[in-house]
Amino acid sequence: MSLQQRQQLASIWNGPIHWDAVMSEHCTLRAGGKAEAFIQASSLAELCRLIVWLEREEIAWRMIGRGSNILVGSQGFAGVLVTLGGVFCEIRREEGDPEQPGLEKIRVGAGCATGRLVGWCARHGLAGLEFMAGIPGSVGGAVAMNAGAWGGEIGNLVETVTFVGRRGQVRTVPRQELGFSYRCMQPVQPELDGAAVVEVVLHLRQGDPREIHDRCRELVARRKAKQPAGVASAGSFFKNPPGDSAGRLIDAAGLKGLQRGGAMVSTRHANFIVNTGTASAEDIIGLMQEIQERVYRFSGVRLEPEVQLL
Ligand SMILES: Cc1cc2nc3c(=O)[nH]c(=O)nc-3n(C[C@H](O)[C@H](O)[C@H](O)COP(=O)(O)OP(=O)(O)OC[C@H]3O[C@@H](n4cnc5c(N)ncnc54)[C@H](O)[C@@H]3O)c2cc1C
Repeated sequence: MSLQQRQQLASIWNGPIHWDAVMSEHCTLRAGGKAEAFIQASSLAELCRLIVWLEREEIAWRMIGRGSNILVGSQGFAGVLVTLGGVFCEIRREEGDPEQPGLEKIRVGAGCATGRLVGWCARHGLAGLEFMAGIPGSVGGAVAMNAGAWGGEIGNLVETVTFVGRRGQVRTVPRQELGFSYRCMQPVQPELDGAAVVEVVLHLRQGDPREIHDRCRELVARRKAKQPAGVASAGSFFKNPPGDSAGRLIDAAGLKGLQRGGAMVSTRHANFIVNTGTASAEDIIGLMQEIQERVYRFSGVRLEPEVQLL
C-alpha cells in the first residue's frame, strides 16, 4: 500500500486500523509475519464499503476468522486482513416451519466463535453441532474450511450462506451451490471467489439440552486424550489423503518429534505441527516441506496442507 493509500484508508475507516499487525498475535500457531493492515468490520455497510475501496485501489485483502487454521509467511501479507465483530457475532433462532416439526433453523453471523455457538445450541436444546465442540475458530472460518470431526461436517448443516463479493455485492446462496467438500467450500458462482462469508443459516434438530451438553463434553474429552495440550498449533496440519490418515503416514515415516527451529512434529499426534515457543513461520513451513518430502519418499503420498498459508 502506498503512503497515500494508507492515509486514504485511515480517513474512510471509522474504527481502529492495526498497521503492520504482528499476525503471530492473531493466530493459534503463534508465529508468522506482519499484515500491512488488520481491520475488524462490525457492520455490513462498512464491510461492503471497505471491500469496494480495496478492490478499486487493487489492494490485496483476505478475510480471516480466529486464526486457528492460518499462517502468515515471514515476508508478511502485503495488503489488508479483515476480521468480523459487532453484528457479525449475533445468533438468532428462525421461526419454525410447521411442515417440518422438530427441525430448527438458526441464523448466525460469521464472526461468532464456534465455541460460543455450540454452547448456545446446547442451552437452547438444538442438536446437530456437537461434533464441532472443541474446534476453535469462527463460524465464517468453519464454513470456509468446511470444518468437521467425528464424521460430521458443518457444510451438511448449512441451508444458506450470505457473502459479500469483491464488488461489494451481497449474495445469499443455498447449500447446493456452495460446493462443499472435504475441508473446502468452493461456491459455484465464480463471482464469489474469495468473497467474505458474513452470515450462515444452519438447520438443527430439537434435542434435550442435558444430552447435547453431555455429548459435547464427551467429544471434547476424546479430543483432549489424543491431541497435544498446552502448545500452540493449528490442529491437523495436513489434509487426510483419500482412504488414509496423514497422522498415520507421518508416524509411519518415523517423523514424530522431528524438529526445525522451534517447530516440531508433535510426539502425541503426528499430524500436529506444534510451536515449542520460538518457531518462526519459516521453521513451520520448512518442517512442513520436509514432512511432505519424507512422507512422499516413504509412501508415495503427497500430503496437502490443510493450514492456509497467507
Ligand atoms: C487445536 C485445534 C484443533 C482443531 N481441530 C479441528 C478439527 O477437528 N476439525 C477441523 O475441521 N478443523 C480443526 N481445526 C482447524 C480450525 O479450527 C478450523 O479450520 C476453523 O474452522 C478455522 O476457523 P477460523 O475462524 O480460525 O479461521 P481462520 O484460521 O482465521 O481462517 C481459515 C480460512 O478460512 C477463511 N475465512 C475465515 N473467515 C472467513 C470469512 N468470514 N469469510 C471468508 N473466508 C474466511 C480464511 O481466509 C482462511 O482461508 C483445529 C485447530 C486447532 C488449533
